[in-house]
Amino acid sequence: MARKLRMGLIGGGPGSFIGRIHRIAAELDGEARLVCGAFSSSPERSREAGEGYHLPAARAYPGYAAMIEAEKALPADERMDFAVIATPNHLHFDPARRCLENGFHVVVDKPMCFSLDEARELKAIVARSRRLLAVTYTYSGYPMVKQARALVAAGRIGAVRKIYVEYPQGWLATGLEQAGQKQADWRTDPARSGAGGAIGDIGTHAAQLAEYVSGLRIAQIDASLNTVVAGRRLDDDAAMLLRFENGASGVLFATQVAAGEENNIRIRVYGERGGVEWQQADANSLVLRMIDAPVQVLRTGSGYLDPIAAANARTPPGHPEGYLEAFANIYAAFYQALRDHERDPGIDVRDYDFPNVDDGLHGMAFVDTVVRSAQSDRKWTPFA
Ligand code: NAD
Repeated sequence: MARKLRMGLIGGGPGSFIGRIHRIAAELDGEARLVCGAFSSSPERSREAGEGYHLPAARAYPGYAAMIEAEKALPADERMDFAVIATPNHLHFDPARRCLENGFHVVVDKPMCFSLDEARELKAIVARSRRLLAVTYTYSGYPMVKQARALVAAGRIGAVRKIYVEYPQGWLATGLEQAGQKQADWRTDPARSGAGGAIGDIGTHAAQLAEYVSGLRIAQIDASLNTVVAGRRLDDDAAMLLRFENGASGVLFATQVAAGEENNIRIRVYGERGGVEWQQADANSLVLRMIDAPVQVLRTGSGYLDPIAAANARTPPGHPEGYLEAFANIYAAFYQALRDHERDPGIDVRDYDFPNVDDGLHGMAFVDTVVRSAQSDRKWTPFA
């Protein structure tokens, strides 16, 4: 397939957050271009957004169902190849299902669905449709996170014993939703966000980062969920103990009421011989501590890195890479799979370095387990 891939965008309308990031990241390496979209629940705002993206008016659709039908009817050399879903959580499953059932690949933002039941169904639809689905767990796209994963996988720090992962935000420290702020409004509404508030929104990122770096699945959780801001209907603060499948233990916290905090997601993983530490606020560095050596700071773009970290960097050391590039790295792996899939529909997505439907399903199981654990007096709650 020696051509640019064609992308449709669902969400990403005026005033939205992540759809616009997807558009930049998906096009960053010149592998794909935006050709159509259903950018808003309002047809008028979708049209407005289409103009802003410089699309022909006919391809800024009034809704995603109309978009999928119309794109399917276009000649094969014009229609979109895949759709990106960047809508609030309750509007992930239906557009994803429609895309897959009509022959389109899907990139969907996290959490993959509104509920665990939806996620299970989506996995079955992906299998039936033989289309590809990626979930944008952004932080696993960073080169130095990949370096950490590679070091752990190579046994450099020995068997993993302890994992500490945290995601502090402060933007919901006040009742922003009561003032009608768009992103706060749906995130704090159980009918649009799902069973989890902070735990679904950012806890899922932290859990996926812990599992990606360690190569281990979380098996059991002992969680506490809090709602700190008066009148809020979902958790805005979560803390929990983790037990991993190999018996390693961990601690995860995710809070949106840590006043003054931005997005410094941070992870530390310790094994028998050493540990690795990464944080988004210093994303181009990875701290490596060994039991018998001075502390080392490994840097993005350096020649001594693992090939997977090198392949996911674009500039020489010292030129900062960040969030957009991490996002673009997920797209790059997805595009490779998509092009290979064109030649061989039997490819195994586990051979590609992007979060897939199993990771999305596991994220939904994480939210479900945390909520069940927080409601129970039992010490440990296993994944369903
Ligand atoms: P947002 O409220 O800023 O944007 C949502 C967009 O969806 C808006 O443009 C809205 O008009 C549009 N929309 C709503 N209903 C629609 C419909 N029926 N058809 C078409 N468009 C519709 O929300 P956001 O902060 O961008 O979050 C969107 C999703 O992305 C959420 O699932 C969120 O969890 C996820 N997210 C992921 C990351 C990440 O780092 N990976 C970061 C932020 C958000």
